[in-house]
Amino acid sequence: AQGERLARFLAHAGVASRRHAEELIAAGRVQVNGVTINTQGTRIYPGQDRVVVDGKVIEARSPHTYVLLNKPAGYVSTASDPEGRPTVLDLLPAELREYRLYPVGRLDRDTSGLLLLTNDGDFAQRLTHPRYEKEKHYEALVNGIPSSQTLRALRSGVTFTEDNNKSYTSSPARVRILRRDRQASLVELTLREGRKRQVRRMLQATGHTVLQLRRSGLGPLTLQGIQQGQWRHLTPDEIRTLL
Ligand code: URA
Repeated sequence: AQGERLARFLAHAGVASRRHAEELIAAGRVQVNGVTINTQGTRIYPGQDRVVVDGKVIEARSPHTYVLLNKPAGYVSTASDPEGRPTVLDLLPAELREYRLYPVGRLDRDTSGLLLLTNDGDFAQRLTHPRYEKEKHYEALVNGIPSSQTLRALRSGVTFTEDNNKSYTSSPARVRILRRDRQASLVELTLREGRKRQVRRMLQATGHTVLQLRRSGLGPLTLQGIQQGQWRHLTPDEIRTLL
């Protein structure tokens, strides 16, 4: 069938979860083209039909949605986890689940920080394609104090072993020490690639275990104003500059 079921349209427009939208319809609070609709089967042509809830016109939203999340440690970056562990989607409200978002790239379960989610496959693919990869900023708390020799190695490339037992040498990176004390240092790394557990493995290869890891930025995006576990929509400008 053509169009979109009314409850689904309302959910996509951010009015309510699909279930709650069905309740609004059943309660006679929804009008389509001036007629109160209280059956569920009505189909909507976005941009064509005029949908009103409680007297307010509902604008169809672009079906593509882009979310910036400040991920806490302890959540897996997949849409569902076979082991039943909490996923990053559990951090989003029900009405956003209607959009079937998934993470753009991944952060380890024990990594916190900036993660994008979208349902725009082209956007996700482009953002994770090696040729277009954006700068990713990480803050790693490591044991000890990296020597200047270690910093040079991290900048020019260090070799570590990947899951397939092959070795990989990192591309040039930017590295600086943000803070240090007797036991530990906070190191900022900026990479344009994203091999599995790359930051942990790069630092481990130089003898520094990562105690905590946070992604603090991606391209022009930062986590400013977004507490851990909170999220916001990307602005149209941000979406454009990421592409
Ligand atoms: N590097 C890592 O080691 N882990 C992450 O989650 C991201 C980058």
